[in-house]
Amino acid sequence: MDTITTSIFELFKVGPGPSSSHTIGPMKAGSDFMALSRALPVDTKELVEKLEIRLFGSLSATGAGHGTRKAVISGLLGHSPEHCPPEVLDNLDRTPDETHELDLVGTFVTFHANNIIMDAVEHDYPHSNTMVFRLLDKNENTLLEREYYSIGGGFLRWKGYVEPERGRPKYPYNNMAALKKHLTDNDIRLHELILENEKAITGRTEQEINDALDNLIEVMEHAVEKGITTTGKLPGPIGLHRKAPTMYGHARNEHFQGSGFIKALNAYALAASEENAAGHCIVTAPTAGAAGVIPAILFVLKRHMGALTEEIREGLLAASAIGFLVKHNASISGAEVGCQGEVGTASAMAAAMLAYARGYRFQITENSAEIALEHHLGLTCDPVGGFVQIPCIERNAMGAVKAYNAYLIATTVEAAYHMVDLDKVVQAMKETGHDMSQKYKETSEGGLALSMTEC
Ligand code: SF4
Repeated sequence: MDTITTSIFELFKVGPGPSSSHTIGPMKAGSDFMALSRALPVDTKELVEKLEIRLFGSLSATGAGHGTRKAVISGLLGHSPEHCPPEVLDNLDRTPDETHELDLVGTFVTFHANNIIMDAVEHDYPHSNTMVFRLLDKNENTLLEREYYSIGGGFLRWKGYVEPERGRPKYPYNNMAALKKHLTDNDIRLHELILENEKAITGRTEQEINDALDNLIEVMEHAVEKGITTTGKLPGPIGLHRKAPTMYGHARNEHFQGSGFIKALNAYALAASEENAAGHCIVTAPTAGAAGVIPAILFVLKRHMGALTEEIREGLLAASAIGFLVKHNASISGAEVGCQGEVGTASAMAAAMLAYARGYRFQITENSAEIALEHHLGLTCDPVGGFVQIPCIERNAMGAVKAYNAYLIATTVEAAYHMVDLDKVVQAMKETGHDMSQKYKETSEGGLALSMTEC
């Protein structure tokens, strides 16, 4: 199996909610296709009559509720996820006959929003979340075509994609056993290993990596702060009320003691998740749908446990290791393996971050992550109406509480009593996801999604 060469900042990405595979990936696809179109020879560009985009799989099934159409259009218009244009997104795709003039450099093409077609949910493309972009001439002949795959967490691939050249990691590994061996053989700590690998893979300096981590911490904290102070209903036909401010108010009244602490933890996860559902700026951690879990634990570490920035950075590096292992050996995409891959992975990463930032060494960190992931196995993805709201928002709160509980178990019970290692649970997650019916993989065609079919 290949060595893991994913960067920390491919896993943790700043962008607009509510679903990284439905917003960040498609936005990138729109932007990429425009770059390809602009690079065409002038005489080909002059023949362009129409741009057609077909969405397949869960992008078709739940794309409307996830804002995929808006995301694609904003990408075509030149926006990128990092700059989080919620106000731009809010004003796109308001009417079916909306048009935009797209600049191909030297010529323009009029893009009709209704040329984004929600195509088949079941299909034969190699990835569930497939998008086919085509430039057509007046006789509907294809002048340019690219088949994109939004593979989860905002990652974008396409047919014929070749992984860009990147540096070899200093400590190559593809599973937890190999990672553990490096730690022992080289007498190095987990965060140091991840940092060294990041430097080798991306060429970034330690200062640049720390600055980028601090930016992630700031965006996560901001999402929680905004969420616990924002009231009202979330966008969409469900009419779901935000719960975070109420929950936070109760926690504060109880002085964050006893159940007040758990209420605060819930409130923080609800807050960042509600911001995600509102289409505001979040960090994929590792996906947008699961963007509340890690910020909740981060907020607890900082505001309730007095963790230093340095400790939080180290915790995020430890969380990255868990995210890399799951992404590499199973999946972090709800469309591929259900919610166990999203909230389950987030919970495992958060548990690892908490243990590591609290000063526990590797074995406790791994056990914390393993316990959290183990108790998300089999979790399906069945968002009501295709909106990342029910069950997603409360599920993030549950994921944060489970992360905290996994940390409590791992730090209380003898580590030697622990029987399952992370590699085994990741493998179990992969197999469970493989056996899971397609209707429980972000299509809104099964489970809880059927309980409110009017959405
Ligand atoms: S149910 Fe889970 S995987 Fe599915 S959209 Fe919601 S958060 Fe994402």
